[in-house]
Amino acid sequence: MPKHVFKTEVSQLLHLIIHSLYSNKEIFLRELISNSSDALDKLKFLSITDKKFQKIDFQPKIDISFSEDNNTLTISDNGIGMDKADLKDNLGTIARSGTKGFIDKLTGDTKKDSNLIGQFGVGFYSCFMVADKVEVFSKKAGESNGHKWKSDGKTGFTILSSDIDNHGTSIILYLNDEGKEFANKWRIDSIIKKYSNHVSFPIFLHYTEKNTDENKQEVVEDKCDQMNEASAFWKKSKSSLKKKNYIEFYKTLTNDSSDPILYIHTQAEGTLDYTTLFYIPSKAPFDIFQSDYKPGVKLYVKRVFITDDDKDLMPTYLRFIKGVIDTEDLPLNISREILQQNHILSKIKKNSVKKILSEFKKLSKDKVKYSIFFNEYGKLIKEGIYQDFENREDLLELVRYKSTNSDGLISFNEYVDNMNKDQKIIYYITGTNEKTLRSSPLTEVYRKKNIEVLILDNDIDEIVISSIPKYKDYELKSVNKSDVNDDLDNVDSKKEEKFKPLTDRIKNVLKDRVKEVNLSSRLMDSPSCIVVDQNDPTIQMQEIMKRMGNMDAMPEVKPILEINPNHKIISKMDKMGKTKKFKDICYLLFEQALLVEGIDLSDPAEFVSKLNTALEKSL
Ligand code: ADP
Repeated sequence: MPKHVFKTEVSQLLHLIIHSLYSNKEIFLRELISNSSDALDKLKFLSITDKKFQKIDFQPKIDISFSEDNNTLTISDNGIGMDKADLKDNLGTIARSGTKGFIDKLTGDTKKDSNLIGQFGVGFYSCFMVADKVEVFSKKAGESNGHKWKSDGKTGFTILSSDIDNHGTSIILYLNDEGKEFANKWRIDSIIKKYSNHVSFPIFLHYTEKNTDENKQEVVEDKCDQMNEASAFWKKSKSSLKKKNYIEFYKTLTNDSSDPILYIHTQAEGTLDYTTLFYIPSKAPFDIFQSDYKPGVKLYVKRVFITDDDKDLMPTYLRFIKGVIDTEDLPLNISREILQQNHILSKIKKNSVKKILSEFKKLSKDKVKYSIFFNEYGKLIKEGIYQDFENREDLLELVRYKSTNSDGLISFNEYVDNMNKDQKIIYYITGTNEKTLRSSPLTEVYRKKNIEVLILDNDIDEIVISSIPKYKDYELKSVNKSDVNDDLDNVDSKKEEKFKPLTDRIKNVLKDRVKEVNLSSRLMDSPSCIVVDQNDPTIQMQEIMKRMGNMDAMPEVKPILEINPNHKIISKMDKMGKTKKFKDICYLLFEQALLVEGIDLSDPAEFVSKLNTALEKSL
């Protein structure tokens, strides 16, 4: 018998699944039922849309039977089935490219998190937690030959031809000592109710019942009960559903064991006839920032499953939403290409986004809940501000930032409410380190004037905020930029004139290292600071872009040095001649300004040496 060996990743994964996720081994049944349900969905779709499959007599269902005496459990479906190549490819390799990362993550803190199974498409293997031998009998719909796949889950698997009457798949688990408990009617019943109640196909449990007849003789009766509700949950009337029902459905839909933060159920009738049910998970799926993330929304047409792999059903920034879109207005045999430009679907999407954002806004009234939400999804809301021009106003109401005047996060609206009477501008500072930003000399004057400054320390903040021209009537201004001095009415033109020779001399020393040297009106206690030209990216931003390898397209931008005319160092410098000491102080002023902004010096040793010389002279 030719034996196929598992790919290395599979053996590693099997080992991990069996040992790490052991505490919750009952989920194997959920995984197998969910595979059967997918297989039924696929065939149902083909039987409606593809002539070749229309002849098939098809009553989709899942059957479960067990034997307490033999310790076996069998899960069967009459779905699409698998041919030899499918068996080899699907049950011998792991489909998604994130698998390696998944294995690595599993060895960390997430070891016991059974939620991750399923999320990463390793569901089938979970049956080896409870069985030491598994046989899969399968025949693909429309084909004449069936096959039997067999494995001990350790070394590899074999595939042989097998006579199978009907299309579909039967999986027989030979339960081990740990798995014996699952060959039991009550146990199976409770697992199905817990995880698979809303699978849209009937799940039948076959069992025997011992009774005594009227002659007091024991008779064994074969019985079969449907164990689940098997209805399209989202089509039930909203008034008949309770929070508890929504949460239960969420869990069967996503395999997430925590409650969602929010659910949004919409049943629209009229020009467009559709139902949507969306959920916000309490935790973002952990592939959310990978480009091959799995979309969370499934598309149904007239209750028939169409796809769960269409990233266009939601805008990318809402990729954390889980749920269902079901519409009466599309033909079932709609092709993928058509889906993408379909105007009905784009209308549904548009309405859904509006609805979702308005629910976020409602959620934001509850500060505690919203901060949990924003902590998890804030970065995605910011992505939205950048991507979704149409809904920008609403997204601007949803974003939150740190600020110099508060410990928590605040909204633009709150900022505006806190503004001084004659303030017309919203000020913000960008960078990568909150502590550095809070103590930056760039904010000195604002502190003095009691003007609040938003602190933007997330790596995408600068790109996002520079795409926003205004919030309501208020202009937004970065305090890292040069032109901000203009509106503080601090500028004293007489002083500027007086210090012009000094700024020129400093520029002469620093040469190309700075774009300009200017007199500052924002500094109070510090002698100097670094800003950039109004239209240039900040130095921190340039560093981020460098790290991302994005600098080629952009010429290097130089900072502007600002000096504080009211500082003793500056007034003393003004009286100094063109000595080496003067030059050294120019460098020290420039480099200390870089340092307080958290920017690395190109030659720290040189800086220290100049500093030591200065110290020595002052002693
Ligand atoms: P996932 O279901 O997340 O893709 P699994 O390891 O559970 O991962 O299953 C791997 C693949 O095996 C499935 O994607 C499917 O193609 C195939 N498969 C599993 N169970 C069945 C079944 N009952 N009928 C048909 N195909 C199946």
